Formats: sequence, structure tokens, C-alpha cells
Amino acid sequence: MQFDILTLFPESFSSYLHSSILKRAQARGHLVVRFHNFRDAATDRHKTVDDKPYGGGAGMVLKIEPIFKTLKKIRRKKNSRVILLSPQGTPFTQMEARRLTTYDQIVLLCGHYEGFDERVTKLVDEQISIGSYVLTSGELPAMVLVDAVTRLLPGVLGDDQSSVDETFTADEKNFIEYPHYTRPEIFHPTKEKTWRVPKILLSGNHAAISTWRTEERRKRTARYLRKHKKRPEP
Ligand code: SAM
Repeated sequence: MQFDILTLFPESFSSYLHSSILKRAQARGHLVVRFHNFRDAATDRHKTVDDKPYGGGAGMVLKIEPIFKTLKKIRRKKNSRVILLSPQGTPFTQMEARRLTTYDQIVLLCGHYEGFDERVTKLVDEQISIGSYVLTSGELPAMVLVDAVTRLLPGVLGDDQSSVDETFTADEKNFIEYPHYTRPEIFHPTKEKTWRVPKILLSGNHAAISTWRTEERRKRTARYLRKHKKRPEP
């Protein structure tokens, strides 16, 4: 999967892309990330990418020309998608992440300031929001999308079953994952308190553990649905 990211702040991606699973995915050739700073496409002396909004109002608006020029220069694969990151877009979910794994190339447009000149929306296939809140710019949303999509690509996680078992992946009745525990078996947060690992997990009885985990998934999913009323898919 190749991501082409149009951004004014390519350096802000670096620490995350150079750590853990995303670092390994790039080393193994599952993931390629290219940055395109659309300030480079600005033609005036000051490399201007924004301007005051027509009609007045607060903030600056990203101009269409540098984005148009930058997009034109990107070599497009046959099966590619151009996505504008915007709080007004379609909510990003695990199901959306899975859908995006079907593309060979995803081009992401990261906004800043007040956002884009509305005509930029004519250059994209879709708009995605990572949640109902407004961030300063599109770099964090882009990173969220790259991470969620990449971990679903075949071969990226050590054990492909990991992404199948995860929360929001399984069916209606058990889409919340079961709880995990590791050593120590007994933990004392204070002198008086004792927090133990459930006995069943120490039993070595794989069938019983599997039944317990299924039941935990079911209970957690029911609790989630009581609290949030519905599964978080569009
Ligand atoms: N004025 C815009 C509005 O009210 O819809 C918000 C602009 S925001 C300050 C600047 C940029 O951050 C956006 O163009 C977008 O690229 C990105 N952004 C902010 N919040 C986002 C979210 N929840 N999901 C995706 N992108 C977001």
C-alpha cells in the first residue's frame, strides 16, 4: 500500500512512522509513505499557500492552486483514492479502514488554518473525519488513517489473527475484544488490595479458556451497546 500525503508539515509524521509496526511494515515493503509539501508548488516569492476568505471572517483559507499542481504531479496507480481529511467528512471506523485496504494507493490531503478553498473538494474522491472534534490540522488524522489501514494489511501484524480478534471487527454480538492479562499473577496496588488474574486463564484448559473469552466478548459487547446504544459503524 502506498500513501501519498500532501502536507505543510511532513516532519510531524517522522517519529510515529519510525516506530514499531509502521517502521517494520515499511522495512518489509508492505507500506510506502511519500510526502508532498504543497508549499513547494506555490509560485510567489513568499511561497504563499493561504489567503483571506472571500466575504470576510476569521482565519486563513488554503488556496486551490498549490494543491491542484501537487496532485497533478503525483503518479497515480490504477486503483487509487484521493481523500480529503476534514471534520465534515464520513466518520472513520474500523469498517472504513478495512474498505481502504482494497486500494493500492491512497492520497491524503491534510488541511490547516480554516481548511481548504471549497473547490478543493472537486479534486477528491471522498472526505473522511476521524471524529466529531476539530484539530489544528490534518496530520494527526492522516497518521490515524495510515496506522489503522496498515495494521490490516496481510502480513503486517506478526499474527494476522490479531486483527481478526480485535474490537470492532467481529459480528454484532461480540465485537468487543475479551480482556488480556500477563504477569504478575497477583498484583497489590495497595497493602490491602489484591488484583488477581482470572483462574481460568491459568488452568491450561484451552477449550475452557476459549469459552470464557467468548462469554467475555459477549458481556462486554452488551455493556458497550447499553452505554452507546449502537455499534459505532456508519
Ligand atoms: N474550519 C474547519 C471546519 O470548521 O470544518 C476546520 C478546519 S481545521 C482547524 C484544519 C484542518 O484540520 C482541516 O482542514 C482538516 O484537514 C483537519 N482536521 C481537523 N479536524 C479533523 C477531523 N476531526 N478529522 C479529519 N481532519 C480534521
